Amino acid sequence: MSLALFTHTDMLAHVTPQNHRESPARLEAVTGALADASDLSLEPLEAPLIEPDDLALVHTERYVAALAQAEPATGKRPLDPDTWLSPGSIRAARRAAGAVAEAVRRVAGGGVERAFCAVRPPGHHAGVETPMGFCLYSNVAIGARLARRLGIARVAVVDFDVHHGNGTQDIFADDPTVMVASIHEAPGWPGTGDPSETGAGNIVNATTAPYAPPGTWRRAFEGLLARVDAFEPELVLISAGFDAHARDPLATQQLEAEDYAWATRAIVSVANARSRGRVVSSLEGGYDLQALGQSALAHVRALQGV
Ligand SMILES: [Zn+2]
Repeated sequence: MSLALFTHTDMLAHVTPQNHRESPARLEAVTGALADASDLSLEPLEAPLIEPDDLALVHTERYVAALAQAEPATGKRPLDPDTWLSPGSIRAARRAAGAVAEAVRRVAGGGVERAFCAVRPPGHHAGVETPMGFCLYSNVAIGARLARRLGIARVAVVDFDVHHGNGTQDIFADDPTVMVASIHEAPGWPGTGDPSETGAGNIVNATTAPYAPPGTWRRAFEGLLARVDAFEPELVLISAGFDAHARDPLATQQLEAEDYAWATRAIVSVANARSRGRVVSSLEGGYDLQALGQSALAHVRALQGV
């Protein structure tokens, strides 16, 4: 099984204020954990800068230009209290989205079966014209749109970040060819993602209460995946946030690294049955560095089947 790893050190140049949870150290925690694992045989590939045509699959020209204009020459500039720009942020964001786009191209082309994109800034809160929640470009949504353009009939996005992927949901709410299936803590930020939100029948939301035990989370996730399986996706994309871990400071779920391995094996099982094994996963949240590294490693091991 070929598993590609897309990343780039340019994504360390996107700098947030001191003590901001979405820090460059997060990416180093993930790539460090993967580099230390001798049982993995990853094909490391450079995350390219996304092309304007690929960005335009989701974002307006006006938004892309405004974001570029807002990038400061020195220091840091807030777009909202959570979401910041520094010199190098746009280049980092172009690498993050470019990683997912290139991974989708490789997987669609048959050269690679699965891919993990170790990227930041994350993407699943960003809308067509809105930065939000540390996110600038909607990385996974761009990947899903690109997959459709490449002739993949049905794409499923599985989002197990502890926060609802509101940006991705909004982008595909009227598009029955892309299923967006999210499990998240409720009540929780950003407050969207109630199970009653169903879009064009393609939006599936599962919620777990604060401090839910891992067994409860797993049952909810199984229900979510049953919907993905019934959708018969030809490609599965994962918004892989690891902030439902028990150690995470931004939420109160109780997962351990082994739960992410379990969840990933369940996704791979659906992909093997429906999608010729094709999975592209992209990093979203995860804010305890130790838990993030261990969970991402468990996830990638399960993607590779080791
Ligand atoms: Zn999150």
